[in-house]
Amino acid sequence: MANNKKKTKENKPKFSPYWIYGIIIALFLGFQIFSGANYQDGNITTPSDFFKYLKDGDVARVDIVKNTQVAKVYLTKEAEDKEIHKNSKPETFIPSATKLPNYKFEFGDLQNFEDELNATTATLATKPIVKFNTERNDWTNLLMGILPFILLIGVWVFIMRRMSGGAGGGAGGQIFNIGKSKAKLFDQNTEVKTTFKDVAGLEGAKEEVQEIVDFLKFPEKYTTLGGKIPKGALLVGPPGTGKTLLAKAVAGEAKVPFFSLSGSDFVEMFVGVGASRVRDLFKQAKEKSPSIIFIDEIDAIGRARGKNAMSGSNDERENTLNQLLTEMDGFGTNTNVIVIAATNRADILDKALMRAGRFDRQIFVDLPDVRERKEIFEVHLRPLKKEVQLDLDFLSKQTPGFSGADIANVCNEAALIAARNGKKAVDKQDFLDAVDRIIGGLEKKNKIITPSEKRAVAFHEAGHATVSWMLEHAAPLVKVTIVPRGRSLGAAWYLPEERLIVRPEQMLDEMCAALGGRAAEKVIFNQISTGALSDLEKVTKQARAMVTIYGLSDKIGNLTYYDSGQSEYGFTKPYSEETAELIDKEISAIIEKQYQRAIELLENNKDKLTELAEVLLEKEVIFKDNLEKIFGERAFIKEEPITRPDIIS
Ligand code: ADP
Repeated sequence: MANNKKKTKENKPKFSPYWIYGIIIALFLGFQIFSGANYQDGNITTPSDFFKYLKDGDVARVDIVKNTQVAKVYLTKEAEDKEIHKNSKPETFIPSATKLPNYKFEFGDLQNFEDELNATTATLATKPIVKFNTERNDWTNLLMGILPFILLIGVWVFIMRRMSGGAGGGAGGQIFNIGKSKAKLFDQNTEVKTTFKDVAGLEGAKEEVQEIVDFLKFPEKYTTLGGKIPKGALLVGPPGTGKTLLAKAVAGEAKVPFFSLSGSDFVEMFVGVGASRVRDLFKQAKEKSPSIIFIDEIDAIGRARGKNAMSGSNDERENTLNQLLTEMDGFGTNTNVIVIAATNRADILDKALMRAGRFDRQIFVDLPDVRERKEIFEVHLRPLKKEVQLDLDFLSKQTPGFSGADIANVCNEAALIAARNGKKAVDKQDFLDAVDRIIGGLEKKNKIITPSEKRAVAFHEAGHATVSWMLEHAAPLVKVTIVPRGRSLGAAWYLPEERLIVRPEQMLDEMCAALGGRAAEKVIFNQISTGALSDLEKVTKQARAMVTIYGLSDKIGNLTYYDSGQSEYGFTKPYSEETAELIDKEISAIIEKQYQRAIELLENNKDKLTELAEVLLEKEVIFKDNLEKIFGERAFIKEEPITRPDIIS
């Protein structure tokens, strides 16, 4: 049935904006043809010839058209047969009842022409009829009257079609569909290949979502005990962690109609469209209930209301949100329609949206830990031809802070790198290169760089490496390179511990290591450069966070100026000018102290620093082993994380 409907729709001629152009062009052509109408007016002649014919008594009638200054000449019957007038018979394609003129000519000044005409006709025995008239072209007038309207309507239709996105591509009814929801429907007939098997890790989230599917499939199981089916679930987490993927898996497994759309699909230039789309969406979903609605990036409409007083133009979004709130839990409560929404900005969502009864459940989808990363690698390595002894534990350890999307990207990039090198299978090195590339950008081996700049970069990176090697809490080093990559000229790669809580000494050690680059330049060349910009940015941000967010400064004390409920447009500082001054002083004191600490460390190890920089200049890339050769084994042994038992399923 649905298919048939689709077919008939497709068979209809598609309305295209080009039709409007076609119609306009046709009208213009018509206008040209009919307004011109030259062939009806006879042969062109000159005034002197005309007076000659007049004197000969050939002229029966003269029509003087005043506005166009044209005179039309009608010959007598006898004259028409004369040899000289042989070609003057008007030829028309349209047979006309009225007689058509034989000649026409422009007479110039009317007064002069009239005088001459009168003088000539006075001498004639049979006087021709002389008529004066003004000529109007009806077609011109008509066209001039309606053309602006046609143009206006054309432009309007064109804009409407553009704005409604032409997504449906259907017939001209697009303009009237603007208030309809743009949700894509997946049901039994549409094949969604994603299943829960494709979602690695995320056990908790998966369980919750699976339960939602269960609610819809077997509602009695829950309602017989008096429970109510939840109305909605909100998937919250950083980008790329698999929220959309999870929803896709629901669509693939639920076997109930699944409406999918993005928050921005509600937004349109016209007032009231968003709300009407929400209504339409829920209407459709209710018709097909039990069903699921999935709204991706819900923050596009779900942003807290009334906070953007400045712009004043956000009523439309608020209306949309209000409509969504009422549809989810208003008087006309829906049965068996579950809304799943995803966002990475839960903090800016309206509280009313998150209250129980609407999005009853908030499912946190966090960045994966080592074990989850391994599982994600397993999923994405499935389609790849890889080396047999590929160490997945190693790969997942090398990718701290990577999201699921990053890992998918690493796998793909590794396959591309292997293909570029003409390999038969993707090996460990390809994966490491892919990780480097994703973190640092593309290698630029032939970037133009002077020897002295290269030396500065080498010492800068060696400074980072040396300081971090000497500090207990700095992240362990993996490698140091001075091959330009992305926007940086060199880099030291670390493998940060995945800490859940951070202590101040850990933060300070990291800041000291970050300042090691500039300190090395100062110690060796007694000069500093702009090369430390990104280090300084990082350090400043961290110091500010220590003081104003985490309450880690003695002078400011145990307080925070961070407000999780505040909108992002806060322009007023929650502290006095004096405190602002104190904060600034405290930040620069923290940074300065760490800088001095780095300088001192490097002064004491100047020879080792120089040795490392020389090796780096020679090899361009050095690893942990090279450092161990120079500095000896690192004294600080990393605390092993408490391993969780594997969940056996
Ligand atoms: P978001 O959380 O931003 O909606 P997506 O769900 O769109 O992220 O994830 C993007 C891609 O990342 C997915 O298409 C998938 O390839 C990969 N991905 C993310 N998380 C996972 C996961 N847990 N398991 C497998 N693949 C994942």
